[in-house]
Amino acid sequence: MGSVENYSRFLKHRIFDTISQEAEALGVRAFVIGGYVRDCILGRPCNDIDVVVEGSGIALAEAVAKRLRCRVSVFKRFGTAMIKSKGLEVEFVGARKESYRADSRKPIVEDGTLREDQERRDFTINAMSFSLQKENFGELVDPFDGLGDISRKLIRTPLDPDTTYSDDPLRMIRAIRFASQLSFEILPESFESIKRNRARLAILSIERINEELNKILLSPKPSVGLKLLDDATLLELILPQVTNLKGVETVEGRGHKDNFYHSLQVVDNVAELIRQRPVEQKENRAVEELWLLWAALLHDIGKPSTKRFEEGIGWTFHSHDFVGGKMIPGVFKHLKMPLNEKMKYVQKMVQLHLRPISLVDDQVTDSAVRRLLFDAGEDIDDLMLLCSADITSKNDKTVARHKKNFELVKQKMKEVEEKDEYRNFKNPITGDLVMEVYNIPPCNLIGEIKEYVKNAILDGVIENNYEAAYALMEQKAADMGLVKGGAPAATGEQSGDSPR
Ligand code: ATP
Ligand code: MG
Repeated sequence: MGSVENYSRFLKHRIFDTISQEAEALGVRAFVIGGYVRDCILGRPCNDIDVVVEGSGIALAEAVAKRLRCRVSVFKRFGTAMIKSKGLEVEFVGARKESYRADSRKPIVEDGTLREDQERRDFTINAMSFSLQKENFGELVDPFDGLGDISRKLIRTPLDPDTTYSDDPLRMIRAIRFASQLSFEILPESFESIKRNRARLAILSIERINEELNKILLSPKPSVGLKLLDDATLLELILPQVTNLKGVETVEGRGHKDNFYHSLQVVDNVAELIRQRPVEQKENRAVEELWLLWAALLHDIGKPSTKRFEEGIGWTFHSHDFVGGKMIPGVFKHLKMPLNEKMKYVQKMVQLHLRPISLVDDQVTDSAVRRLLFDAGEDIDDLMLLCSADITSKNDKTVARHKKNFELVKQKMKEVEEKDEYRNFKNPITGDLVMEVYNIPPCNLIGEIKEYVKNAILDGVIENNYEAAYALMEQKAADMGLVKGGAPAATGEQSGDSPR
């Protein structure tokens, strides 16, 4: 036998030694397997460790936890157990053999050997393991040449791809995710097999698909994964709203840009701009940057339904920002993504994505800038980033011109902000205040008064402070016939208690 490289340098943490000793005491063989092995060899950080045991994973985990005096969480139903120790998360599982039947997506699972466990893994690079036996601690067990595929930068399945993909079709999307994350190629036969097995996608839960989509969006150049999904004709099954953006129509010799490829470019631009961001902007964020990438992918989905060819003007997409925003909840529901402030954020980004650049045409008045600052609120930096990423064109001069205009808008925003602190502007007049002062129940009048005061501040009619706002509220309320302390009989819903 030739000399075999030893990888014990990746197994320095005390826990590996303990696992080794406890496995020996129990008379079982244990191995580190999967993502941790792959990432160590690739030099990527990884704190999730999977340990596979030829025997009971739970029993070994319990023995290790006892020695290290740490807690163990046992998932009996899955036959797994998890230990958290000093920033590491170690999951223990018994080696298993899986056999699938065509009529069911649930495999028959039996105890198996390491080799059988490696065969049911998705890719050769994910099937490698490090031995934890005393006699060959740190030795690589790599029956499918995952190491060779790492050096060839290749995604390949351990078994016939048709078997691997049809057994668990999520692996098709995982192949594309790893290609995008690691800048690897998918073996051509494997890619053909993905195309052949596309219909199997139907048996997957959308949540599992979505997890992989998020990882594609967070990869260094998301368009790599998105294009692969599209080439494999999977994207149209998952996100038809995005593939509908494809194509260029020409009327009277005038075409428009292909909005699908444009959107992918915008996603890549956003990914790049996020990397260049100063740290202050990365901290204290209301939502994770993942959602800004989603906004980039979806920013133009209102275009297909708003597309018109107008004589003398050319192609227009009037209100696609507004229409696109309206489509966001549907997309989120379909992908079972959170329907909370994250969705609202994406919707807001889509709805406002034209605003910063449109200010250029409006000669950038203070009042327009204030309105934008008010509408974007704490998400203004993200909106500006998205808007700048949205400037794409084949013509470098056009890009340069737009970028210059965009800088003007940014400059103007800074001036307005410095002048009167409209960032995070909050209306000094709240609904509660109006209700209390005039002793009225919730009704339309309150919104009307608030809106009136807000507009006066944003238009610069009054100063942005409480006293000025309060005085204007009094004036507007008097015009509306409201009396302080209230005439509750007129609105009829509240008791006659006067405030305080
Ligand atoms: P990451 O943690 O970056 O998402 P990973 O490869 O560690 O990547 P996990 O989902 O944590 O992915 O899975 C751990 C290991 O389990 C993988 O390396 C692979 O060996 C195996 N695995 C995960 N999902 C599948 C699957 N669908 N089919 C076969 N094996 C899988
Ligand atoms: Mg992992």
